[in-house]
Amino acid sequence: MSAQGILMIIIGLVVFNFIIESLLELINLRHQPQLLPDELKGISNEYTFSKAQLYHAVNTNFALFRSLITTVVVIAVFYSGMLGEIAMFTSDIDAHKYVQYLIFLAIVFGGSNLFSLPFSLYQTFVIEKKFGFNKTTVPLFISDRIKSFIITAVIGSIILLVFFFALDWLGENFWWIFWLFMSLFMLVATVFFSSWILPLFNKLVPLEEGELKTAITEYTTKVNFPLENIYVMDGSKRSSKSNAFFTGMGRKKKIVLYDTLIKNHTTEELVAILAHEVGHYKKKHILKGYIVSIIQTGVILFVLSRFIFSKELSIALGAKDYFLPLNIISLGVLFSPLSMMIGIVMNAWSRKNEYEADRYASNTYGGVHLAKSLIKLSSDNLVNLTPHPWYVFVHYSHPPIIDRIKLLRKL
Ligand SMILES: [Zn+2]
Repeated sequence: MSAQGILMIIIGLVVFNFIIESLLELINLRHQPQLLPDELKGISNEYTFSKAQLYHAVNTNFALFRSLITTVVVIAVFYSGMLGEIAMFTSDIDAHKYVQYLIFLAIVFGGSNLFSLPFSLYQTFVIEKKFGFNKTTVPLFISDRIKSFIITAVIGSIILLVFFFALDWLGENFWWIFWLFMSLFMLVATVFFSSWILPLFNKLVPLEEGELKTAITEYTTKVNFPLENIYVMDGSKRSSKSNAFFTGMGRKKKIVLYDTLIKNHTTEELVAILAHEVGHYKKKHILKGYIVSIIQTGVILFVLSRFIFSKELSIALGAKDYFLPLNIISLGVLFSPLSMMIGIVMNAWSRKNEYEADRYASNTYGGVHLAKSLIKLSSDNLVNLTPHPWYVFVHYSHPPIIDRIKLLRKL
């Protein structure tokens, strides 16, 4: 196919993604009832419900605005051939090919980071602040951004260097060796995320002695889950929103409870939330997730290997010749329908896992307490209680709160 044709497909896909995303946001926004529906009475009240509606509307409008501006800029960048010019400029630098590639990607990555900065600032310091969630200070915000930038740059460069090397070494057959490398990398990332990366942003401390610990010990002894893997995290330094999650594998496994969660919930509710997280562990969701990611990566890399050497992909973005990083960008857009489909399947699977963990918590501790904690969580975090089913289908990794409560009440 001609470079011009590829460029048109790329721009067409950017527009297509924008339309689909915006339609979903609008459908979801239009779906909101004016008044508290009968089935939600006892779960929310008029005041919280209308506040959550407003929060949702403000976020949706902002997301639409942000994606409109981003789409226009992305199209302009692609169409003008600007990326091709930057590529030609970096390939004139007197350095090894890999260094040129990394400089190019650093410029693009840095540029997109700067572009997204005002949006993040507005989100954090205007929207989140207005609804009383934001606890982040400006210095913390800046240090968070710098840290994430450095971590991404370091880890990204290592992965990219292996990728470049595998391509030069094995040509089209690079995909299997790089697949092996990525599988190993993802394993290390899954196992050590909570020990290496998380502590750079948050403080994790083992649960302290007291009524909660006693109640948790009783539960974890019953279900045979090691207590030393339960941590409390200072989520409150960034936001008043609360959460809990399971991370890691093997001996590095951790259940993390936000301090904000502990502050707002009763002991029974907290044990129920913990029981849900133990459920994820007992049902081996992290391990299965890892296996699924390996398969997914293999498929994507195989498809990638069929196109990665095509000169036209670089020319489409304005270069005069083959330039590997440009091909990565082109293919990133060309694969977006595939990524979207994978995302939908992964979300459906994740929603199923959430039900499984809920069921586990209900069987081993008490569905009533979990339902209560979900009700509290939804109002504390101003969760949208009435999402449109299509929106849920595409974007939700967790079932809507109301569906989870319905299931818990049935069990
Ligand atoms: Zn869960």
